[in-house]
Amino acid sequence: MTSSVPRTASKPFAGVELGGTKCVAILAAGPGAILDQRIVPTTVPDETLPALGAILGEWAGGPGFAALGIASFGPLDLDPHSPRYGRVLATNKSGWSDADVLGRLSAPFDVPTGFDTDVNGAALAEMRWGAGRGIDDFAYVTVGTGVGVGLVVHGRPTRGIGHSEIGHLRVPRYPGDSFESVCGFHADCIEGLASGTALKARIGDRAVADVSVDDPVWAPIVDALAAMCHALVCSTGPMRIAMGGGVMTAQPHLIPAINAALKQSLAGYMALPVEDYVVAPELGDLAGPLGAIAVAASAAEGHGITRMAAE
Ligand code: ADP
Ligand code: ZN
Repeated sequence: MTSSVPRTASKPFAGVELGGTKCVAILAAGPGAILDQRIVPTTVPDETLPALGAILGEWAGGPGFAALGIASFGPLDLDPHSPRYGRVLATNKSGWSDADVLGRLSAPFDVPTGFDTDVNGAALAEMRWGAGRGIDDFAYVTVGTGVGVGLVVHGRPTRGIGHSEIGHLRVPRYPGDSFESVCGFHADCIEGLASGTALKARIGDRAVADVSVDDPVWAPIVDALAAMCHALVCSTGPMRIAMGGGVMTAQPHLIPAINAALKQSLAGYMALPVEDYVVAPELGDLAGPLGAIAVAASAAEGHGITRMAAE
C-alpha cells in the first residue's frame, strides 16, 4: 500500500488535519504504516495550535519526519505570494479568522511543508491509496455540514483565485422545490440545497435516521448533487468522483441515484469513462488524516509549496 512513497523516504511524514470540532495529528508513511495518531479538540487557535505543535515537536525529537502536511478546513489563503498565505480566511468559526495555521505549525521544523484544504488533501490521499488510484484527474466531494470539493487536475489540486469552492456553484432548482437555501450567501447553491445542514432543515422535526430511502426529500438533493457532478464532468472532467462525508456515508442509496441522475443530466452528450463514475471513497475515516500525509508526501516530492519557498 505504501509503494508510492519514495524509497528514499526513510522517515515517515507528519500530518495535521484541522477539522471543525477536532484536529488529528498523524505520523505515517501511508495507510499501512501509521505510527502514531493523536486527537486535539478544535477550540481557539491559541490553545489548539500549540497543542498540535507540541505533538509535532515530540515527533521531531523522536522518530523525526521527512515532511509536514497540513490539511485544514477553509477557506484558506493558499497563495504563497499573499501576505495572508497560510492563514484561515473569514470564517464563522469563532476565533479562527486570520489564524496563521501554516506559520505557527511549521515554523520550528526545517522540512518541506505542504498546506492545502482538508478536501484537497483527502482527494490526494484517495489518489495515492484509495478510490482514485492510477488517475491524475479526480474529485473528492464531502457532503457533511457543508459541501466541499477537493479538485485535482493533472495530479495537482487546482489553484487560481483560491482553492475550489464548487460546493457554492449555483444549480438549477429541482422542479417544484421551493426550499429556502441554508447558505448565507447563495439562494440556490449546492451547499445551500443539498448539504447535511440543508437535509436537516428540509426534514424539520424528523430525525435523519427515520427518513426512508424512498422519501421525497432525497429527489432535490440527488438532483443538486448530480448537477454538481455534471458541472465537474463538463469542466475539468475528473476520471472519477468519490463522494463521502456524513450524509453520503449514512445514505449509501445516494451514490447509485446520483450516477443515474448524472447520466440523465448529461443526456448522452459526454461519455463517462466508467459505468460507476461516482463512487464511495475507500479510505473511510482515514481520508482526512491521510490527506495531511498525502499533502506532506507531495511536498517531499517537490510538488507542494514548501515553507522555505514561502519565505
Ligand atoms: P463535517 O462536515 O462537520 O465534518 P460530517 O461529514 O460528519 O461532518 O457530516 C455531518 C452531517 O451528516 C450532518 O449535517 C448530519 O445532518 C449528517 N448526517 C448524520 N447522520 C446522518 C444520517 N443518518 N443520514 C443522513 N445524514 C446524516
Ligand atoms: Zn453558497
